Amino acid sequence: MTDKIRKKWVLHFPATNSDKPIAYHLVKDFNLVINILQATAQEETDSFLILEVIGRKKDIEHSLEFLRQQDIEVEDMEKGITLNFNKCIHCGLCVGLCPTEALTIDHLTWEVCFNKSECVVCDLCLKYCPVKAIEMEFLK
Ligand code: SF4
Ligand code: SF4
Repeated sequence: MTDKIRKKWVLHFPATNSDKPIAYHLVKDFNLVINILQATAQEETDSFLILEVIGRKKDIEHSLEFLRQQDIEVEDMEKGITLNFNKCIHCGLCVGLCPTEALTIDHLTWEVCFNKSECVVCDLCLKYCPVKAIEMEFLK
């Protein structure tokens, strides 16, 4: 039990590869215990799955190898997002993209608000912000 580690991952699926039974393989082939925190399928962009996984280090490494072979990108949630309000022009584009409502509009000021605790680091806002006001930070 003590040799098991816990990870939180965001799996990014290419649009052409979103219907594979990945969770099944992680459990069956790599003995991982998984907890699906969120799953999103977008029509125009890639889909993603947010998972908490528990397993032995070796099994986790092998499962990462398997995911890469499936063209699935794995993001470790040791990362976080920051919003630079000095750059943000409050266009609202990121609010429409955010799947968890971590980004919202304050309807009194019409300014964008960021609730970090709701963010699952899916990267969507970061990719599409026109002024690059959203950045990735790497947590310890
Ligand atoms: S997309 Fe960028 S500029 Fe627009 S509201 Fe979001 S953070 Fe601000
Ligand atoms: S990375 Fe951006 S779009 Fe994704 S959950 Fe966090 S704030 Fe929302």
